[in-house]
Amino acid sequence: MFCWLSRLYRGLSRPTRRTTQLIWGSFSRSLVLSSQRRIPELSSFVARTNTCGELRPSHLGQEVTLCGWIQYRRQNIFLVLRDFHGLVQVIIPQDESAASVKKILCEAPMESVVQVSGTVISRPPGQENPKMPTGEIEIKVKTAKLLNSCKKLPFEIKDFVKKTEALRLRYRYLDLRGVQMQYNLRLRSQMVMKMREYLCNLHGFVDIETPTLFKRTPGGAKEFVVPSREPGKFYSLPQSPQQFKQLLMIGGLDRYFQVARCYRDEGSRPDRQPEFTQIDIEMSFVEQTGIQSLIEGLLQYSWPSDKDPVVVPFPSVTFAEALASYGTDKPDIRFGMKIVDISDMFRNTEVGFLQDVLSKPQGTIKAICIPEGEKYLKRKDIESIRKFAADHFNQEVLPIFLKTNNWNSPVAKFIMEEQGLGLIRLLETQEEDVVLLTAGEHKKACSLLGKLRLECADLLEARGVVLRDPALFSFLWVVDFPLFFPKEENPKELETAHHPFTAPHPSDIHLLYTEPQKVRSQHYDLVLNGSEIGGGSIRIHDAELQHYILATVLKEDVKLLSHLLQALDYGAPPHGGIAIGLDRLMCLVTGAPSIRDVIAFPKSFQGHDLMSNAPDSIPPEELKPYHIQVSWPTDSETEKSSLNHPCHPES
Ligand code: ASP
Repeated sequence: MFCWLSRLYRGLSRPTRRTTQLIWGSFSRSLVLSSQRRIPELSSFVARTNTCGELRPSHLGQEVTLCGWIQYRRQNIFLVLRDFHGLVQVIIPQDESAASVKKILCEAPMESVVQVSGTVISRPPGQENPKMPTGEIEIKVKTAKLLNSCKKLPFEIKDFVKKTEALRLRYRYLDLRGVQMQYNLRLRSQMVMKMREYLCNLHGFVDIETPTLFKRTPGGAKEFVVPSREPGKFYSLPQSPQQFKQLLMIGGLDRYFQVARCYRDEGSRPDRQPEFTQIDIEMSFVEQTGIQSLIEGLLQYSWPSDKDPVVVPFPSVTFAEALASYGTDKPDIRFGMKIVDISDMFRNTEVGFLQDVLSKPQGTIKAICIPEGEKYLKRKDIESIRKFAADHFNQEVLPIFLKTNNWNSPVAKFIMEEQGLGLIRLLETQEEDVVLLTAGEHKKACSLLGKLRLECADLLEARGVVLRDPALFSFLWVVDFPLFFPKEENPKELETAHHPFTAPHPSDIHLLYTEPQKVRSQHYDLVLNGSEIGGGSIRIHDAELQHYILATVLKEDVKLLSHLLQALDYGAPPHGGIAIGLDRLMCLVTGAPSIRDVIAFPKSFQGHDLMSNAPDSIPPEELKPYHIQVSWPTDSETEKSSLNHPCHPES
């Protein structure tokens, strides 16, 4: 049960030959202590001599004291004690002289906390349990103490016992006792430790905390506000330490990092949390390739030893390539089924709607090939794919079945032989594959096929096809993003694609003043198995350029950023950085179904803490010092807001 834990600690405790060398008199070097890894001392300072999981035949005859939770009791003779390092069998003494010990151990309810002292003995021959790492020994108890009795639990502390997420979150402290949560949080701690070691000890980064009471930042995500005692004045919780890390560069702290808490009031999304953690990094005098190599090294160094090692350098695609081949800026490159532009094959087509599309300036025809789709996709799957395309993209999708080189599709009779052969060549189709074809504007057609590519991959996998190796971690850099996107509500206006401090691509600067929508940025995203796990950029360090982008292109209120603009004028070094989303990274590393499973005390889907009931109301008199009053929503407003959150763990 707890084998993972010993692996985890073995990974941590592998001794290295490196020793600490403290050179007196050198301030900077004395801060760069090299790491001296050692076996962690798990029982120092506490009322136990050993952990439940560590005892082996090599401990035979030792007098030990263990503390743990009662996991099982059998026939009032055996008791299995658990702590977070494993399980151990304890023999309940049966002789009269130990009646009080027997009473404690037999009467304490399951999950009570006890302390036992006794001798490590061998299990009788034939009674060893090969499934338990401690299965060759047991404890012959001499004394026992009930440290705390446990009431009837809302659920059993066993991972296989099914419970709703709402119940788990309500009793999170009990949920944390489960094996999986223990593994997730301990692995997280270990990876963060290795990241600190890599950044601070091996590469001279400085770990600096930045404020979480800050002011509003224009653009970007919606921020939480915190009332202050000054009438009408509010702090904002930062969506990231972006401004501070840039100001630290100006302050000469040229290699900064922080395990930073960030806040975004973005409402409910399955892989988001209102507060989350980033490994936040900034460096002076760096270019994009420098940041990328740093991150590749960081992940390689901190990667768990029980997983396949990270292979570097990571491949890289441009935003334009990602969109054209995968229909998204976060492609999952663990499998093919790439989008292929087949417009040229159909220039002389007789199919009316294809002709129409191709006659438009942005019109294209695109397709993906689903390997063995004929075998694995049912008619109703194809119907729901077509319905999805119609409902969400207002697009037509044509399925084409290829059987012994015979096309079978609503357009089949119009596909001429050379078009058919061209399709086979371009899409590398084989017998029993299904081609999904769509026609329309480039971006829209790609986005649709990108969604269908993932949808079909899920369908094939649900039917037993192995497309994505679950042990594979496939990193990818996505680069050359546009600097601005047209605003959804008003496409004539531009908004920043990431944040307004991102520097334009050096080869596109001239376009900034004429065709800003065409400017590429020096932004890069890191994608892992189709999820964005990080992003960053080279920053603007020129006050005038920053002012131009904020005021003229983005039409933001520059007064909100006057402190930063001023600072850029006082000798700001060129700089750049990145932030890695720790929760998402851990979710992928552990294979957890949700980021809530790698956070000790997450919020529910609706942003609530189900254990304490936060956010909570405050009596009006406590609101007075903040000069604010609650304006209670009407019934219809309340109803509307609950409709926006139809499914969440509270339900
Ligand atoms: N501050 C950015 C973010 O949180 C990351 C960066 O540009 O370094 O997404």
